[in-house]
Amino acid sequence: MLVVETVPELRQAVSQLRSTRRSIGFVPTMGALHAGHASLIDHSVADHHATVVSIFVNPLQFAPHEDLTKYPRPRTADLKICDDHGAEVVYYPAVHDVYPTGFRTTVHVAELGTRWEGAARPTHFDGVTTVVAKLFGMVGADIAYFGQKDFQQQTLIRQMVRDLNMPTQVKVCPIVRDPDGMALSSRNIYLSNAERASGLALSKSLLAAQQHWNQGDRDPALLMSAMQAILAAEPGLELSYASIADVETLEPLTSPQPVVVAMVAGRVGTTRLIDNAVLGPWQPL
Ligand code: AMP
Repeated sequence: MLVVETVPELRQAVSQLRSTRRSIGFVPTMGALHAGHASLIDHSVADHHATVVSIFVNPLQFAPHEDLTKYPRPRTADLKICDDHGAEVVYYPAVHDVYPTGFRTTVHVAELGTRWEGAARPTHFDGVTTVVAKLFGMVGADIAYFGQKDFQQQTLIRQMVRDLNMPTQVKVCPIVRDPDGMALSSRNIYLSNAERASGLALSKSLLAAQQHWNQGDRDPALLMSAMQAILAAEPGLELSYASIADVETLEPLTSPQPVVVAMVAGRVGTTRLIDNAVLGPWQPL
């Protein structure tokens, strides 16, 4: 496995792969890799002749009061996971390599980023779409792999790819969870045992919505109240939102639909957690 730190090295590594291999998969991450990230690498390795992973804590998607400086950066462990799962190249840049002096261009996807996470983190999604557009341009992969865990993020990225005719396709992979149901997240390491127990209310509320759905309940208000009942009973959780939304527009729903997304977010202690579940058959556009 080759680790590169600059765009010219990355381009050279990718063109070398291209000369001998037919397809390239790409997994963009911020590191602190866990089994969720590893599953994206596994999907890419299964689908492609070569896989490129990026590990970059993107300052553009953090607000000044957020956890940019304390975000975990376990370089050795991360590189081992990439290697163990069969990545060929890891792009591990410094901030100035991605955002050199004089950098001016950002990518903004209108409307989709204003609700939910965007309401709590107004500058977040412009940071995400900008860095993903840059990484797509650097790597030139056939398919890039994203987790359903960040549901709103994958919606924006797929919209950006369509709107800007980017040649890299997007594949969305299932959420990997701990046995107790908690969605894996790099931020889970911040949680004390008590906070983690409170955070479990998120996945429990989604399970309740899923159980109602399985019984044939389709009324968004009913599904939402099933979630609220669990969330309200958890005093350690400061709820940000719990909603039933359209899977493509992310608009909150009031009438029954054949497929919906249940989205939930909240804070335990100082850590913000998000989770979601798609109810019904979903094929990302
Ligand atoms: P991050 O490092 O948090 O930027 O995440 C990098 C990628 O991993 C994103 O596409 C995430 O959606 C995905 N991801 C994060 N957590 C999980 C998880 N528990 N299951 C599947 N994918 C995940």
